[in-house]
Amino acid sequence: MPIYEYELCDGDCVVCGGRFTLYRPVNAPPLTKCPACKRPVRKVISNFNTPNKLKPLSVTDAKKAGFTVYKRTVKGEYEKQ
Ligand SMILES: [Zn+2]
Repeated sequence: MPIYEYELCDGDCVVCGGRFTLYRPVNAPPLTKCPACKRPVRKVISNFNTPNKLKPLSVTDAKKAGFTVYKRTVKGEYEKQ
């Protein structure tokens, strides 16, 4: 079962501290309330699972991945690189 991290949408909570983690089955319905204090919560998207998205995509990488890269010219046209 994956661990999900949640935080309160607003306010604070003495029970959960405003932020908590929970084991949830993948097919469980989305958690909308803190099980302890019943305040609305939202899921915290952890960077842990998506490290690749943090890496800036360079033109070289984009070309390697099969993208056609266009550079905007001074005239306002797009030039194929
Ligand atoms: Zn709470």
